[in-house]
Amino acid sequence: MASAVFPGSFDPITLGHIDIINRALPLFDHLIIAIGINVDKKYMFNTETRIEMIKAVYHNEPKIQVVKYSGLTVDFCHQHQLNFILRGLRNPADFEFEKAIAQTNRKLGEVETVFLLTGPETSFISSSIVRDIWRNGGDISKLVPAEIMPIIKRKG
Ligand code: ADP
Repeated sequence: MASAVFPGSFDPITLGHIDIINRALPLFDHLIIAIGINVDKKYMFNTETRIEMIKAVYHNEPKIQVVKYSGLTVDFCHQHQLNFILRGLRNPADFEFEKAIAQTNRKLGEVETVFLLTGPETSFISSSIVRDIWRNGGDISKLVPAEIMPIIKRKG
């Protein structure tokens, strides 16, 4: 059984994440979307809200589970018997950063990372751009899944 974790901040989940998740679904029997808790990072939406947003999109998808985790991603993979880490690549900066992490994870935990290249329609989207637009009163509805808009408005 091929199972993977898609780790990230998802602060908030965007159409870029959705594109990667939807294209990864046929590749895996089980996909865990895991929100990493990093105590040094300042998030806009708290962990429970970010989980709620992802669940609002994927509540009808039996292959997907949404959880939070702390610690090393490879340890999370071993605890849950996951074979693969899924990541998206948008640009050369992503590649350089992800390359070192993927090679380290293979060395440390013998876990393979699978990369999907960003789609042309969503390659420019990042959670940080979405947060910036939202903070400044702009319209983010073209950048995030429609299901999360009511949650964002409630929290915002
Ligand atoms: P992190 O803090 O781990 O980078 P993010 O939520 O920003 O968390 O990203 C999680 C994953 O989603 C990363 O692999 C990132 O490259 C990918 N991703 C984010 N936005 C896009 C996008 N527009 N297209 C493809 N992949 C993306």
